[in-house]
Amino acid sequence: MLHRRQAPYDVCIIGSGAGGGMAAYALTRAGARVVMLEAGPAWYASKNSQMLTPAYATPMRGRATHTRPFGEFDACDGGWEIDGEPYTRASGTKFDWWRGRMLGGRTNHWGRISLRFGPEDFRGKTRDGLGDDWPIAYEDLAPFYDQVDDLIGVFGSKEGIHNEPDGKFLPPPKPRCYELLVKKASDNLKITCIPSRLSITTTAKPGRQACHYCGQCNRGCSVKANFSSPDVLIAPALATGRLTLLTNSMAREVTIGPDGLATGVQYIDKETGEDRHVAAKVVVLAASAFESARLLLNSRSSLFPQGLANSSGVVGKYITDTTGSDVSGFIPAMVDHVPHNEDGVGGMHLYMPWWLDNKKLDFPRGYHIEVYGGLGQPGYGFMGGIQRYPGKGGYGAKLKEDYRRYYGATIGFSGRGEQIPNDKCYTEIDPNVVDKFGIPVLRFHWDWTDNELNQVKHMQETFRALIHEMGGTPFSPMPTKEQGYGIAAGGRIIHELGGVRMGNDPKSSALNRNCQAHDVKNLFVADGGPFVTQANKNPTWTILALSWRTADYIAQQRKAGAL
Ligand SMILES: Cc1cc2nc3c(=O)[nH]c(=O)nc-3n(C[C@H](O)[C@H](O)[C@H](O)COP(=O)(O)OP(=O)(O)OC[C@H]3O[C@@H](n4cnc5c(N)ncnc54)[C@H](O)[C@@H]3O)c2cc1C
Ligand code: SF4
Repeated sequence: MLHRRQAPYDVCIIGSGAGGGMAAYALTRAGARVVMLEAGPAWYASKNSQMLTPAYATPMRGRATHTRPFGEFDACDGGWEIDGEPYTRASGTKFDWWRGRMLGGRTNHWGRISLRFGPEDFRGKTRDGLGDDWPIAYEDLAPFYDQVDDLIGVFGSKEGIHNEPDGKFLPPPKPRCYELLVKKASDNLKITCIPSRLSITTTAKPGRQACHYCGQCNRGCSVKANFSSPDVLIAPALATGRLTLLTNSMAREVTIGPDGLATGVQYIDKETGEDRHVAAKVVVLAASAFESARLLLNSRSSLFPQGLANSSGVVGKYITDTTGSDVSGFIPAMVDHVPHNEDGVGGMHLYMPWWLDNKKLDFPRGYHIEVYGGLGQPGYGFMGGIQRYPGKGGYGAKLKEDYRRYYGATIGFSGRGEQIPNDKCYTEIDPNVVDKFGIPVLRFHWDWTDNELNQVKHMQETFRALIHEMGGTPFSPMPTKEQGYGIAAGGRIIHELGGVRMGNDPKSSALNRNCQAHDVKNLFVADGGPFVTQANKNPTWTILALSWRTADYIAQQRKAGAL
């Protein structure tokens, strides 16, 4: 049955993650009456987190489950596969898509690595002729990055590195013991190594406590010291009295009036199974980059036969993920160490931003290095692979002794690099498959180029050099060219972006420089869809800043009577 509301909301936002939460926060503060459709149930870390549950508290010992692939106590409900909501891959394509299905989406779990894009990241084509430039510059986004820093909180250190802009930082935590070893090795190899930048409050903020260094950020923080959209953005938006939140509401398509403007959103009430409609004067898509592309491609009509906002044909194209590769190794200097306090945030205290000049290398764009190791809380699968250490594990008392000796003697590095969009990476509607709601699903095509493969080879060589410099031994041999130098499959780094890109030319972009559809002036996208390129930075701080900028533009246009 179709329900139609008479009085339209000012704005309908689809999705409540980083992009949707930020848009709801800013628009309700600007006085708009907002309705938010979220496909998953409500969840607040401040009420529902299992931050302090010990692993031995359940028979599973924290083991991964089908809907919590990062562990039983992990905050995020979702995963690589969602029952009844498939996606498909073209023949030969290796691509995986990680989706969160709950209030706050993936911000309940994410690593909180919160890096600004730098001035060079917005002008890749001008720099080396590859990919495209953004229609905006760093200066356009800088005031919004500042606002996000102030509101949400991010720790870090002022470094003055041109393409790694400093923010308005809270004090960073001190490096842990193993991180000091990493720092020494990096200094010896002349690799820049600086305090990490994570959205965790190391000093208290109003209504949020300072981090107490329990290290369980992925479970959600009950004292709201780390950022998640429900506690930090949605709750204050609800407190204005201007946000109507409809959870368990799966958007099917954006509806259009005879004048070609968006009239609202058709969605499925998952609790009753009913098809419903919510009317709104402005629609903001923030369902995550590829879900937003899917919604547009599924919103076909006689006015928009190729899908909505797609007269250019670019919706679903220019999609990217961060490149990724890892190496871990055994570090004898950390064996039988003096017991010491390694409490800290649930993530690294140091990282390495890109430090080299690509003009002197055989790949055009850089990567940053993330560091892991230390004395994490033991749980299911603890120190699996102990046979790789000298002494080779064993049974009974000997095995227990080895666990004690080698606990903390592993250090690893993960590279996170920039992919340049290419013609072989795109997504489209699969004409033969629908999900359990009858909504057509996405089919993915993916292929890396030598730009990424050469970059990943460099990562592998660098990580091995770092491990050797610390006196250690990598656990695995260098992957060969035939093995793609160990590159993770597309989508695996969970930084998927693009598909609804912004640009000045309506023939080659879906959105203008304000993330407003060229074809439909009351339609906006506020997630990773508008990104023109990746950078070698994790994307969420830029999604937040861009969403706030978009929301401000909508508020201005409403005030001016243009929307
Ligand atoms: C394990 C992990 C670690 C990560 N670490 C980092 C990191 O350290 N730094 C970083 O910058 N990024 C990181 N990310 C990525 C980060 O989580 C995403 O960039 C960010 O959450 C994207 O925000 P979003 O609003 O676009 O999408 P999401 O957060 O995914 O939110 C989208 C929301 O839309 C809802 N939705 C989808 N379709 C519909 C529909 N049809 N109708 C209604 N609702 C819908 C979903 O249920 C979801 O709640 C990580 C992600 C994961 C999973
Ligand atoms: S480490 Fe800090 S931010 Fe993370 S869950 Fe613990 S208290 Fe919260």
